[in-house]
Amino acid sequence: MTAIFAEKALLPDGWAANVLVEIGDGGRIESVRPDIAVADAERAPVLLPAVSNLHSHTFQRAMAGLAERRGPAERDSFWTWRETMYRFLDVLTPDDIEAIAALAFAEMLEAGFGAVAEFHYLHHQPGGSPYDDLGELAGRIAAAAQQSGIGLTLLPVAYNRGGVDGRPLAGGQLRFGNDLDRFVRLLERSETIAGSLPADTNIGVAPHSLRAVSLAEMERLAELRPHKPVHIHAAEQEAEIADVTAKFGARPVELLLQNFNVDLNWCLIHCTHMTQDETAELAASGAVAGLCPVTEANLGDGTFNGDSFVGMGGRFGVGSDSNIRITLSEELRQLEYSQRLRDRARVVLASSGQSVGRALYERALAGGARALGRNSGAIAAGGWADLAALSPGELAAFGADDLALDEWIFTGGAHVSDVWSAGRRVVRDGRHIDGEKIRARYRKALSDIAGRL
Ligand SMILES: [Zn+2]
Repeated sequence: MTAIFAEKALLPDGWAANVLVEIGDGGRIESVRPDIAVADAERAPVLLPAVSNLHSHTFQRAMAGLAERRGPAERDSFWTWRETMYRFLDVLTPDDIEAIAALAFAEMLEAGFGAVAEFHYLHHQPGGSPYDDLGELAGRIAAAAQQSGIGLTLLPVAYNRGGVDGRPLAGGQLRFGNDLDRFVRLLERSETIAGSLPADTNIGVAPHSLRAVSLAEMERLAELRPHKPVHIHAAEQEAEIADVTAKFGARPVELLLQNFNVDLNWCLIHCTHMTQDETAELAASGAVAGLCPVTEANLGDGTFNGDSFVGMGGRFGVGSDSNIRITLSEELRQLEYSQRLRDRARVVLASSGQSVGRALYERALAGGARALGRNSGAIAAGGWADLAALSPGELAAFGADDLALDEWIFTGGAHVSDVWSAGRRVVRDGRHIDGEKIRARYRKALSDIAGRL
């Protein structure tokens, strides 16, 4: 049994003082008792439920910063970045992939995330031959999750073709490909691997995008595992919207909503470009919009229709996607700032009188937990003990509870000090408990990769 005593804790119905949180050996919260006088427990100044990171490709962490030089094309874009990414992934070994994933997971925990949905599409050897174990690389992601202690929702990705026109996979993409039958075997193998991880581990299905699977394949994929998470990239880039619209006569979000039972189990990643009708229908569907504001800014994707979507009751969560920089506070800040810059307004994603830090955080909590199919996102008995302790800065002098979140997100004056994932203590004093070992392995992998590029 672990016990944490928080001076302030964000509970489902708001802030409470002097809260004792008890965590059972299975990793679930057993009890939450406010207004306790004193307790023999670990201390946290401000205790929050930890947010789930709803979208990541961990291997891309190792190329962060390597695609910031302007290329020869007239205009650098997502598509030129993708060429760099394909060249990079083609030299990665299973050991590299595990070392990179462990580092990315440790950094996510240090950033205050408690769990992650890994959108895992790198399946095969360079050139496309499967490993002897079809789930070799899924196993490496699982091993990295165990080393770091992060809660994992593994999303094996179906990526079967090179574009909406049905062209075959080429170059770096060959490592992604499966026909549907082999994808089902890969999914089954991934379920076996996930079954050897702690009980909070979950698994879902991820058709990569409408570029990478046909509508007939989408139909089967969407029904492979009822009630499990279904994640898909949608409407990130204007060129993909043009391709999908030309081929099907409907925009990607529109097409998904028209043809599939898009509901609470679905998470549409990006949704950067939506019409007002798509925005309203996606909000009404209950699906989560998976926003990755830092990556979307880095790739020059565009601005999410956030004020309308939130106004219509839409759910969103945040993901670190390309892992160009792993930070929860900056994802939330970037999201809010993108709206301010577009609308030339302040405090957009909060209702009147509300702290925007609190509004952003609570939405990311609910959307992230929903997208991972994870019983978390609240300090309440029965849920997984995904918790983050925040150390407030100077604004504590003003005494208002929500200021801890506004300070952390907007000024950087507060920081994450301690994190638990399903009760596993993973971060202490701002550092991952195995960070040194994980970082040493990562540095070794990176110097090997540099020699191969
Ligand atoms: Zn992505």
